[in-house]
Amino acid sequence: MRVRHLSLSHFRNYDRLDLDLSPRVTVLYGDNAQGKSNLLEAIFYLATTRSFRAGNDRELLGWTLPDNLLSFTRIAAQVERDHEPLDIEFVLRQEIGRPDDPTAPPVFSKRIKLNDIPRRSIDVIGMTTAVMFSPQDLEIVDGAPLLRRRYLDVTISQADRTYCRGLTHYNRVILQRNHLLRTIRDRGASADQLHFWNQEMVSAGSLVTARRLATIRQLGEISQRFYQDLSGSEEMLTIRYKSSIFSGAAMIPDDAGEIASAFTTRLGDVQARDVSMGVSLVGPHRDDLTFQIDGHDLNTFGSRGQQRTAALALKLAEAEHLARQTGERPILLLDDVLSELDARRRARVLAFIQGDQQVLLTTTDRAALEGLLPPDTVWLQVQRGRLIDSTLSSFPLSES
Ligand code: ATP
Ligand code: MG
Repeated sequence: MRVRHLSLSHFRNYDRLDLDLSPRVTVLYGDNAQGKSNLLEAIFYLATTRSFRAGNDRELLGWTLPDNLLSFTRIAAQVERDHEPLDIEFVLRQEIGRPDDPTAPPVFSKRIKLNDIPRRSIDVIGMTTAVMFSPQDLEIVDGAPLLRRRYLDVTISQADRTYCRGLTHYNRVILQRNHLLRTIRDRGASADQLHFWNQEMVSAGSLVTARRLATIRQLGEISQRFYQDLSGSEEMLTIRYKSSIFSGAAMIPDDAGEIASAFTTRLGDVQARDVSMGVSLVGPHRDDLTFQIDGHDLNTFGSRGQQRTAALALKLAEAEHLARQTGERPILLLDDVLSELDARRRARVLAFIQGDQQVLLTTTDRAALEGLLPPDTVWLQVQRGRLIDSTLSSFPLSES
């Protein structure tokens, strides 16, 4: 899996970029605020159809377009997947006002093409697979449950489009059901209709739960090995899926059928509370992950270093997991992570990226990385949304 060519128009601070990418390691270096992370963001967007930091697609549109009535951004790439070339293109447009009505609200549209054929987001997710490493990964361990669910959903969706479809459906069901719960509460509507929505919720939600459980079981196992290797310790990292359907239960079945019957029972138990709160209190949209070191909760008792190492182990495990699931190594995007690591962890990560896969990494300190990366590494300097290839000048063919 790799991106051969990337083409950007009006994407953040890139007015225009056309770049052939090395199948191996590329370093993007330069001062702060030049566009290093923006470039990784564009590649991550191709894989997941979402940004790793923008809350909203509109943020991606470049500010510099002369005509501010119509702004747009285009992210296009030729990727290589199963040794076949594939063209992916996103065009996001925002039109402010219309010729006939300048006060009309802005209209935002997103157009996606695969090999020149219009597609939906869901058809594109996972066409490229990528794993992003960034200093914000720590939030997966110490942030809000929502961030952990989102992380898990993006990871699973990349390898499994059925999951992505099931999840989208489940989220719609929750919206409808919550609406109904409030109608019952506020306007005394009959609770009969809940039966239908409960069935929908159980059938979609059980699949989502089963898939997350299976993924966490695998990711947890691989993370454990990476954690010990990164830390050079015998400490045991345990990652568990905490299901609101099985609150308090030590063992959770992996079978979707068993999950479904437990889910149905739980919905019955909480129905009165669901109605009085006007929201669905149980289901995968309320679930979480827990991290433990030697049986102690990492969030409460872990040191900063342990938390960071766990987040890094999880990301490395994700790359391994995606490779096993798809049969191809994902693209690794390392945003400013090496500088934060101590020598041992840095050496482990560098050993990991020596494999046969595409890697893009960013740094402000080029000198710190010189000599640590493979000899065929491409060095690109990023300066105000432009790239300068300095590979040859930095590696003159000298004696040796
Ligand atoms: P650092 O080393 O600090 O992480 P960086 O090189 O990774 O820096 P980026 O985050 O890639 O920097 O780019 C930041 C620059 O992009 C800033 O100058 C910011 O003003 C600009 N920028 C962000 N969003 C947009 C946008 N929508 N349109 C134009 N420019 C933008
Ligand atoms: Mg950055």
